[in-house]
Amino acid sequence: MKAMVLEKISSVEEKPLKLAKLPKPTPGRGQILVRVSACGVCHTELDEIEGRVSPSRFPMILGHEIVGRVEGLGSGASRFKRGDRVGIGWINWACGRCSFCLKGEENLCDTAAWTGKDAYGGYAQYTVVSEGFAYPIPEKFTDVKAAPLLCAGVIGYRALRLCGMEDDKVLGLYGFGASAHIVIQVTKYKYPNGKVFVFTRPHQKEHQDLARKLGADWVGATRDTPPEKLSCAIDFTPVGEPVREGLRNLQKGGRVVVNAIRKATPIPELDYTEHLWYEKELKSVANVTRRDAQEFLPLAAEIPIVPETQEFELEEANEALVLLKEGKIRGAGVLKIAE
Ligand SMILES: [Zn+2]
Ligand SMILES: [Zn+2]
Repeated sequence: MKAMVLEKISSVEEKPLKLAKLPKPTPGRGQILVRVSACGVCHTELDEIEGRVSPSRFPMILGHEIVGRVEGLGSGASRFKRGDRVGIGWINWACGRCSFCLKGEENLCDTAAWTGKDAYGGYAQYTVVSEGFAYPIPEKFTDVKAAPLLCAGVIGYRALRLCGMEDDKVLGLYGFGASAHIVIQVTKYKYPNGKVFVFTRPHQKEHQDLARKLGADWVGATRDTPPEKLSCAIDFTPVGEPVREGLRNLQKGGRVVVNAIRKATPIPELDYTEHLWYEKELKSVANVTRRDAQEFLPLAAEIPIVPETQEFELEEANEALVLLKEGKIRGAGVLKIAE
């Protein structure tokens, strides 16, 4: 099979993913073989390539927003049949026995494996996964449109749940890329009387236009002060400053949730009185559970979410990642993978 593989930590500008021919994987016990048709491009790939979240071995096949069809079943695998369309996200496996797993918090499992980091991911024509970590894809979505739902969508949904948004509240979104443009659609559906304020880098006119089109009640730049205090905020950006800005603009008792696996720059020093007093809270989102995906995918079809996607060939993965780093992808980047 064809795959774009990462051989070592590099800078994204060096075009580090190399096209390789690898043997088609064989599904083990309880696993399914999936022929990949689309794989979303996530910011976590930049963190992996640049070493902020290092893959557990090299070479590694990145990519954890995978849509494809079941082509083979390992021994004992019975949840799907050949030809079924499935999705695979960031969580690839969890132990099922630790205190976190037993509470349904498998996102915090110490021995969990992550797709495209510990297990081969979707920048390839085929992949294998334990059948319990694959999800049926609602018919509503094409393969390409479904791909960003599997990480940007699922983790955005988790962040929205954790931030405490309610129908009469004001939600701030810092950064307006793949995840935020899905979260705003979920928010407008679940909380029709709530308000959404969107903050982007000042020059990101396309992101601001998309935010307005999707119903943002106010759009500004990261350092702007919005017309009302925020009840809650989600920070999707790869840098530290918006965390402080979110806390500064927060209402008493509000909460900022940070939806990022790593930050490329530090969070600036906080002033206790200005940024934290009055019971303001700061919380991160780490990974996802299967339940997040199982709840979110049917909801995405019901709303229905309309993901904005920009397509690339598998061989163009490096170029897609550079554009992502520069904040130049409108919505979500997706690799379309030919047979
Ligand atoms: Zn991701
Ligand atoms: Zn566990």
